[in-house]
Amino acid sequence: MLSSGKTKQPQSWGRYPKVEHSQVQPVYWRSELPDLSNLQQPVLPYAYGRSYGDSCLNEGGISLDVSHLQRFISFDEQQGLLRCEAGVSLAEILEVMVPRGWFLPVTPGTKFVSVGGAIANDIHGKNHHRVGTFGCHVTRFELLRSNGERLICSPDQNGELFRATIGGLGLTGIILWAEFHLKPIVNPYIDMDHIRFASLDEFFEISSESDQDYEYTMSWVDLLIGGDNLCRGIFMRGNHNQSRALASKPMKKRLPLALPFDFPSFALNILTVKAFNELFYHAQLSKRVHKVVSYDPFFYPLDSIHDWYRMYGKRGFLQYQFVVPFQNGHQAMKEILGRIRRSGEGSFLTVLKKFGNIQSPGMLSFPRPGLTLALDFAYGGQKTLQLLDELDKIVLQSGGAVYPAKDARMSAESFQAFFPNWKEFAQYVDPHFSSSFWRRITAVRTQSQELVAP
Ligand SMILES: Cc1cc2nc3c(=O)[nH]c(=O)nc-3n(C[C@H](O)[C@H](O)[C@H](O)COP(=O)(O)OP(=O)(O)OC[C@H]3O[C@@H](n4cnc5c(N)ncnc54)[C@H](O)[C@@H]3O)c2cc1C
Repeated sequence: MLSSGKTKQPQSWGRYPKVEHSQVQPVYWRSELPDLSNLQQPVLPYAYGRSYGDSCLNEGGISLDVSHLQRFISFDEQQGLLRCEAGVSLAEILEVMVPRGWFLPVTPGTKFVSVGGAIANDIHGKNHHRVGTFGCHVTRFELLRSNGERLICSPDQNGELFRATIGGLGLTGIILWAEFHLKPIVNPYIDMDHIRFASLDEFFEISSESDQDYEYTMSWVDLLIGGDNLCRGIFMRGNHNQSRALASKPMKKRLPLALPFDFPSFALNILTVKAFNELFYHAQLSKRVHKVVSYDPFFYPLDSIHDWYRMYGKRGFLQYQFVVPFQNGHQAMKEILGRIRRSGEGSFLTVLKKFGNIQSPGMLSFPRPGLTLALDFAYGGQKTLQLLDELDKIVLQSGGAVYPAKDARMSAESFQAFFPNWKEFAQYVDPHFSSSFWRRITAVRTQSQELVAP
């Protein structure tokens, strides 16, 4: 999202950190591309700013607004192969392709992300255990490097640059267009189950019983219950509905609500989070509910409130998503949940999921087999940052990692331990590209403990 005001500074979804770019340069046409070699400051592509932290920001540098690259190029109906410019959003693809019987191979919890952003963060969805990440479905793309080269990248052509750009955080060049597989569907509806669970053990049971038969799984969780159960929540699972009769049934249009102002910072606190959790958990009266719903509320419940980040107030918020391997998952969760409870910080939206073992081609890709939890914390200054540093230590000890697309504060030491092949990746970073995130996580400490860019 571009902030309002004279200079339209790019922001990230969490609105933390707030940074100034020296310039925002739009890119409109593939035939009229900027000469990147002559720019005085480092550049970074920016699309819809649905990254939570600073991986889409480039403080003091140039932000290249690539969201105008919005053209569909071709569709091969035999193979389900779509080629489009990288600024096309997943929302636009759904709008055009669902009525023709095709769906996205992988989608995140919002449809307002671009194809370029989906590749650069190698996003995952509710079907990670079945089909891996978005990058697993990309067959090729064209990459513009700052020396003016336009390279076709695929597993067989410029293969290393292909692997570096998937999950490459926008640092290897501008993706101009991409080609990827869509999946056939019979109609736009989802057979959905909601199942209440009362403990982490019960989550594991339902999850194991669902992995085989359900393409999409994820859970909303309440972490504040304390005790040996560790958490409770609602397990959500679904499959594409197979009825031909529903193919022509019109979907209800959801009119998005908008938050007209920033909530005051006291509005979100441990008591309001507890009250919300209580309501949400008990809103479902029976243990198990089955419904047929259109894909929109199933995949994108948050998109029904535009600008919901304003709920966290002007100071913004941080999302923290980590993965821990299954063998250490229970212990790590216990420590992390205990630490959060002691901190007195509450997370409104907490999502729990199991990642599967399908490996992405991306060098820096985040998902790996294990348990992943995503939490939102209102930014409360040093105490929030300290809590997250402590959580990093537990994640590290368990052999896990933190998701760069959502991060705004992890240390260079933590990043380099979470992603040990970052040095291999660094060889493919374009010399004129950089980001606030990249400078932070590659900075080295001097003897006086000052951070110095590499
Ligand atoms: C409500 C919500 C739910 C979400 N749920 C999930 C989820 O379930 N799973 C998940 O994985 N993520 C999730 N995300 C995160 C989101 O999917 C990613 O951050 C995504 O990459 C954002 O895409 P964007 O188009 O907004 O890109 P931006 O945020 O603008 O940029 C993201 C990165 O892509 C790079 N980039 C953008 N376009 C190009 C291009 N053309 N060429 C090269 N690099 C480019 C940028 O430099 C930056 O590094 C969620 C975010 C929100 C707000």
